[in-house]
This record gives sequence, structure tokens and C-alpha cells, in this order.
Amino acid sequence: MACVSPSLASQILHSDHEVDCPECGYPVWIRFSEVIAQCTVTCPCCRLRLHLIDSDGTMQTLGDTLERQIDQALKGLTR
Ligand SMILES: [Zn+2]
Repeated sequence: MACVSPSLASQILHSDHEVDCPECGYPVWIRFSEVIAQCTVTCPCCRLRLHLIDSDGTMQTLGDTLERQIDQALKGLTR
């Protein structure tokens, strides 16, 4: 049975990810939660503003799925 523990799901939601700046190629660290919120991050190298656009809602769906799994895992604790 696939099961995501609350702490693991929380770790994923708050984990950092590296994307390459499209302008200078510098690695820019973004948080999964920032992607879901479609935040704007600034490249620390060339100051280019990167708009995190979740155009097809994939990250949003992934976040919702994780949150549901957290809920289910928490319910399982009190069963
Ligand atoms: Zn850059």
C-alpha cells in the first residue's frame, strides 16, 4: 500500500527545487509551495524575475493530492 507519512508530505510541500535561470543559467532555488502559489522569484545572479506559472495545474493537483494523503494518514493515527 502506497502511503505518504505526514512528515514526508510536509517535507515535499516545503522542499526546495532547483531550476535554471532562462537568462543566465544560474541555478535558482524555489519551493514547491511557491510553485503552487505561482510566486515570482528573482534570479540571484542577473536579477531576472521568474514567474512560476503552473499553467496546466499539475503542481496544484499534486499539492491537493499530498494534502489529502496527509489527512488520511492523520485519520489513520487515531483509528
Ligand atoms: Zn539569471
